[in-house]
Amino acid sequence: MVQIRGYAALHANTPLVPFTFERRSPGPHDVEIEILYTGICHSDLHQAHEDWGPALFPMVPGHEIIGRVTAVGQHVKKVKVGDYAGVGCMVDSCRRCSACEADLEQFCEEGMTLTYNAVARDGVTPTYGGYSEKIVVEERFVVHVPETLDLEGAAPLLCAGITTYSPLRHWKIGPGDKVGIIGLGGLGHMGVKFAKAFGAHVVMITTSPEKGKDAKRLGADEVLLSRDGEAMAEQAGSFDFLLDTVPVGHDLNPYMALLKRDATLCLVGALDELTPALSGGNVIRGRRSISGSLIGGMAETQEMIDFCAQHGIASDVEVVPIQKVNEAWERLAKNDVKYRFVIDMASLRQGA
Ligand code: NAP
Ligand code: ZN
Ligand code: ZN
Repeated sequence: MVQIRGYAALHANTPLVPFTFERRSPGPHDVEIEILYTGICHSDLHQAHEDWGPALFPMVPGHEIIGRVTAVGQHVKKVKVGDYAGVGCMVDSCRRCSACEADLEQFCEEGMTLTYNAVARDGVTPTYGGYSEKIVVEERFVVHVPETLDLEGAAPLLCAGITTYSPLRHWKIGPGDKVGIIGLGGLGHMGVKFAKAFGAHVVMITTSPEKGKDAKRLGADEVLLSRDGEAMAEQAGSFDFLLDTVPVGHDLNPYMALLKRDATLCLVGALDELTPALSGGNVIRGRRSISGSLIGGMAETQEMIDFCAQHGIASDVEVVPIQKVNEAWERLAKNDVKYRFVIDMASLRQGA
């Protein structure tokens, strides 16, 4: 076992504090990664605040992890010592079920093992995430990160990136499609970049008028203010696809009215109840669909990372030292970030 320094929430809703814990030494199929950057995902807040039900404490959050490989087991082929590597939201799955066999480990029928706030498949060892100096993960759940990627901006790809890339690919978004991305945070701004890279006409659908100034830089063709009823009515029935990243339960009715006949709204943000209730007419008229999507499988995560390297795509980040993590969490909760906080993990080594 190896002693690791990190930051943890010791209880629900308490600030993160320095925390030391143990990780396994790398086994024959394992990759050991010295963590360089970890993104702060809104899911970190949801889990530490127990928004999604009882959680495991102490909790070391973080599932947008980029680092340098410091050791590999003898059977590892994907990366070698010195390479850059990434770890996302999951570190294991059953590997036998139909979902795992289809490279959709996130839908593992036995349940994927989350990078943190979970128990490893031995049934006893807690998993700890990327707000820490090192991580040891089995090769299947590690991606190779091409050297050409900007590492700070690449960290959020491991969750925000794949969560938006995967549904846009699944619904075959491309030239000729008008796509709306709802909620311009960590996920949303990546959704805009991917939809644009796939050739779609992209509309940022936001509650924050000031984010409109960034539309061009992010790659959006239009900005639609969701609180402007008149502007929403003008665009009714005109979208081929909507990706909804809003992090809390909300009223879907105004968004459903934006869809064309047979078009789909895909939820990735809200896990809780969507209120007020959806009017049946909003789905029946126009044969519209509501769907959802969960991160992406490991093969698709590698495909997404390679796509980003080829097309020069990365997240727009504000880099913070780990000592400022609680401040960053407070700002994220207040929707005050453009567009993703990333922790520079060198601060953990220097500050300790
Ligand atoms: P984020 O950075 O906080 O962005 C969310 C955005 O939604 C905000 O920037 C804001 O955009 C908008 N928003 C916030 N509160 C709102 C409200 N009450 N009503 C309407 N819009 C609101 O969060 P994130 O990290 O992108 O994560 C978004 C959600 O996705 C979280 O719930 C997270 O847990 C979830 N998630 C899901 C998956 C998955 O696999 N499905 C993966 C990762 C994260 P505007 O200012 O533009 O309105
Ligand atoms: Zn996440
Ligand atoms: Zn499985």
